[in-house]
Amino acid sequence: MASEQDDNLRGSVVRHLETDLLLGVRAAPLSPPTPGRGAAPPSRRVSAKERAERKEALRALDEQKVKRCTKCKLHQARTNTVFGQGEAAARVVFVGEAPGHDEDMQGLAFVGRAGQLLTRMIEAMGLTRDEVFICNILKCRPPNNRDPASDEVSSCWPYLDEQLRIIKPEVIVALGKPAAQTLLQTTEGIGRLRGHWHDYYPSGSPLVGKPTPLMPTYHPAYLLRSPGEKGKAWSDLKLVMAKLGLPIPQRHNSSM
Ligand code: URA
Repeated sequence: MASEQDDNLRGSVVRHLETDLLLGVRAAPLSPPTPGRGAAPPSRRVSAKERAERKEALRALDEQKVKRCTKCKLHQARTNTVFGQGEAAARVVFVGEAPGHDEDMQGLAFVGRAGQLLTRMIEAMGLTRDEVFICNILKCRPPNNRDPASDEVSSCWPYLDEQLRIIKPEVIVALGKPAAQTLLQTTEGIGRLRGHWHDYYPSGSPLVGKPTPLMPTYHPAYLLRSPGEKGKAWSDLKLVMAKLGLPIPQRHNSSM
């Protein structure tokens, strides 16, 4: 009879294979990553005191500024603001575009279908959602999920800039064109930006603070529509894993 340990192992292998399928990998990996494996826990990087201070600074930014924000018209129709969530001392921050319907309803970033794929992408890296920070350029949902307008981006971006100053990640992953273009202050397309390291400068200025390495990649919603591009996204994430010193699973005959 199978033990509980066997069941747990089987569940973890099945989840891993599902992740591979979602990411476009056709063959079984030689060594499945375990979520959380290999990542330096935040406490190893910063003290408990520093971590608590960052958590409190994020909470204050959310409660005192983001939740009360009326800087652009998006506040009129929102159900909830979506500050983002995760580890206050995360080594990596994922930045998407804007909340969709599910996110607006729940007040949490990336909880819909695209969010489920993002979870699998993070787990394929050997991390968990709790170990990273996930947020968006816009904190309120644009009607009918239209693209963010430039006045909305300029009103909202300072909140993200502040989040990044507080969290001080080692790496930023920009998910999709609006996130990459906003953070890098460029009009270059995502197809040309992805796959290469860029520098994120606080407040967009090389004169302010130290730059953080930024990797643009495709947005999970785009990957759901264009699964043939998942291999490229996985190769971008492997660059991020290499930068963070995370073990990269060995694969054979993959479609990447
Ligand atoms: N798409 C995004 O860009 N962000 C979310 O939070 C959800 C979907």
